[in-house]
Amino acid sequence: MDKSNIFKIGLDIGGTAVKAGAADGNGKILAKASIETGAQRPYMAIFRDVAAVARRVAADAGIPWDNVSGVGVGVPGTVNSAAGEVVYANNLPFRNAPIGSELFKILGKPIQIENDANAAGYGEYLFGAGRKYSSSLFVTLGTGVGGGIVVDGKIFSGFKSAGAEIGHMVIAHGGAPCTCGQRGCFEAYASVTGLARLTAETAAKYPDSLLAELVAERRKVGKDAGGKTAFDAAAGGDKAGAEVVGTYIEYLADGIVSVVNLIRPQAVIIGGGVSAQGETLLAPLRKSCYAKVYGGTDYAPFDILTAQLGNDAGLLGAAFL
Ligand SMILES: [Zn+2]
Repeated sequence: MDKSNIFKIGLDIGGTAVKAGAADGNGKILAKASIETGAQRPYMAIFRDVAAVARRVAADAGIPWDNVSGVGVGVPGTVNSAAGEVVYANNLPFRNAPIGSELFKILGKPIQIENDANAAGYGEYLFGAGRKYSSSLFVTLGTGVGGGIVVDGKIFSGFKSAGAEIGHMVIAHGGAPCTCGQRGCFEAYASVTGLARLTAETAAKYPDSLLAELVAERRKVGKDAGGKTAFDAAAGGDKAGAEVVGTYIEYLADGIVSVVNLIRPQAVIIGGGVSAQGETLLAPLRKSCYAKVYGGTDYAPFDILTAQLGNDAGLLGAAFL
């Protein structure tokens, strides 16, 4: 059905930027904008700017505000979707912040809010790599590890939307410290931060390797090992680089397989910075996941794919909540 005469606004509030998109009912983005969050300010000041950028993208897309059917918002942290409240957000001054009711007062439209990774997972499910499937797991590998679970077409986020925090499953008892205070979380190993730590440790172990050389070059310009360093070394035929990539993929597979064993999606969609490695990452990841998953893959096979929508996933997922 053609839904090009239905209009929705999606917003993605991050620690540094607020992104906004106006989309038609077919999931086509008609206009986008981005503003600075100004996260040090009280939340009401941020909400007013968020409302203003929502109206601005509608105007940029040539949509009269009266024709907007709804506004969706993705926010990092714990979001009580039913109450329209951000309970807690790590990089934002939101503590029990009533974003739903406040934006409704300013914008006069139904407001839906959701955790940002759930929104992005929903966007990929609706319009991206997950659109062929009814159940999918979206895993984003960035500074942290986010997860968006869709089961039978619905976002699964648990009691008061406090669940689906796949980054904080413990995969190594007493392991590396995580930003959440626990040790051994999936995020502490599978995030870019975890990959960079493993890269730096391995470079120190093999001082004559290309890996060590690449890390040293980065340190000269004031950076440390990054999420690409080990992949670059491995591509140059370096054993130390290949060791890091191999170990990283095993950690990633352990976490993914744990979630797959629990929810058995039809597809696992990998997004975030590390997913730019494409098949270099995915081919060995598939091999490892398919070997590790409970019961094998004959009865209930699942695909592992890269995300297709980039930042638009969060905007579209929010718009269509
Ligand atoms: Zn954690």
